[in-house]
Amino acid sequence: MSAMLILGAGPAGAAVALGLRRLGYDVTLVSDWRRFAALEGVSVRVLDALRGAGLTHALEGATLPSQRQVSWNAQQHAQNIEFLLDRPRFDRGLREDLRLAGVELIEGRVMAVHSEASGHRVSVEGRAAITADFLVESRGRQAPAGGKGLRGPETVSLLNRWQGAAGKNASAVESLEDGWAWMARQANGQCYWQLTVDVASAELPGKAQLLDYCRARRQASALAQALFGGVPERDLQLHARSSTAILGPQVCGDNWIRVGDAAMAVDPLSGNGIFQSLSSALQAPAVINTLIRAPERAALAQQFHQQRVEQLFLRFARIGRDFYADEQRWPEQPFWRARQRWPDAEPAHPQPDFSSLRIQRAPVLRDGLVEEAEVVVTADQPLGVWHLQGVELAPLLRRLQIQPAQQALADLTVEQGKRVRSWLLGQGYRP
Ligand code: FAD
Repeated sequence: MSAMLILGAGPAGAAVALGLRRLGYDVTLVSDWRRFAALEGVSVRVLDALRGAGLTHALEGATLPSQRQVSWNAQQHAQNIEFLLDRPRFDRGLREDLRLAGVELIEGRVMAVHSEASGHRVSVEGRAAITADFLVESRGRQAPAGGKGLRGPETVSLLNRWQGAAGKNASAVESLEDGWAWMARQANGQCYWQLTVDVASAELPGKAQLLDYCRARRQASALAQALFGGVPERDLQLHARSSTAILGPQVCGDNWIRVGDAAMAVDPLSGNGIFQSLSSALQAPAVINTLIRAPERAALAQQFHQQRVEQLFLRFARIGRDFYADEQRWPEQPFWRARQRWPDAEPAHPQPDFSSLRIQRAPVLRDGLVEEAEVVVTADQPLGVWHLQGVELAPLLRRLQIQPAQQALADLTVEQGKRVRSWLLGQGYRP
C-alpha cells in the first residue's frame, strides 16, 4: 500500500508531490503524457511560483520571453511581456523534478478509481491495481467531475500548430466578433494559433472541414498575417479542447483532495491557468498533513482548502468578466453577452473601507499544518489576512482602534513599518 498516491503529473500534481516529500512522505505518482503539444503564455509571477515550488527543471528552457501584442476593442498595444511555455518540454521537466525529489513515478493511464473511507484502489491500464491511503486528484480537466459544480458559459478552444518560418519569438491576442484568438511563434518556426468560441452559438463546420475553416479565419486576420508572415503551413495539426470555467462542488474529503484544474479550471483568457493550479497545489501538502497528523482538525483543514479554491475561482472569473467587458463592439453577440455578465456583477476588487475591517477566527497555515488563528477580514480578502512581514494584523488592528498610529506601530522594524503602513493605506486607513 502506498501512503500517498497522486494522479496526474501536471504542474499541480508535481507541486503537491514535492511539498509532500518536504514534509517527509513517501509519494507515488501515476500519470499519462498529454496527447498534444501546446504552447502556453505565462506571466513572470508564474515563473516565480514554479521556482518557489522547486520546479526548476520544468522552468529551464521551457520559457521564452515575448512582447505580447494586443488588439482588443479596436485598440492596439504591446505593453506586456509574456513567457512562452513549451508544454512538452515543460512536462518533461516536471518529471525530472519529481524524479530528483525521490517521487516514485509510474507511467500509465488511470482507468478507474474506487474510493472508500479505508483507502483507494486505482486501476492503471496494463498494470496491477495500486492501493493508497490518501489520494490526490490532479488529472486536470480530464479528472472525472466530482458532481455538479459551478460552470461558466460553455467554451471550446481550437488549437492549430504547424511549422512555419523561423524568426523572433512573438505572440498576440485579438478579439473577434464571435470570440478571441491567441497566436504565437517560437524562434524555431513552430507556430500556434488558438481560437476560442462559444459552444452554443459558434457555427463551426464538421471535423473534416475544421482545418480549412481555421486557415480561412487566420487569413482574414491582419494580426495573424503579420505575425506568421503568410508562409506555407507545414505539418498543420488541430486539437480541440474545452476551456469552460469549472469549479468542482467539493474539493477535499477526509482521505482525498483535488488540486489544479481538477479542482477549478479557469477561462484561458486571463492566462492564469498554471498560476491558479499552482495556488491550490501549494496549499495542499499542509492540508493533507493536517488530515493525517491532526485529524481532530480535519473539518478546519477541509474548510481552508474549499474556501480558498472557491475564492480564487470567483476572483479569476470576475477578472475575466472585466476583460470581456472591455470589448464593446459586439455587446449583443452571444459570445460577448454571456461572458460580460458571468459570474455576477460583484467587483473583482471591492473598494477598500477601513471601518469595515473585522477580526475573525479562521484557518491559517503554520509549520506545515492548518490551525486556527485571528485574522483581519477585508472587503478584498474575505478569508482574512493573518500576518504581513511577520507582523500579526489582528492585534495591530486592535491597538489602532485605541492608539494613534505612531504608538501602535512603534515596535515594528523599519521594513515592517513600511509594509504595514502601505497595507493600512491600501485599506483606506487615514491617520
Ligand atoms: P494538467 O496540466 O492538465 O495535468 C494533468 C496531467 O494528468 C497530465 O499530465 C495528463 O496527461 C494527466 N492525466 C490526465 N488524465 C489521466 C489519466 N486518466 N491517467 C493518467 N494521467 C492522466 N494556462 C496558462 O497559464 N497559460 C495559458 O496560456 C493557458 N492556455 C490554455 C489554453 C486552453 C485552451 C486551455 C484549456 C487551458 C490553458 N491553460 C493555460 C491552462 C493550463 O493548461 C492548466 O491550467 C494547467 O495545465 C493545469 O495544471 P494541472 O496540473 O491541474 O493539470
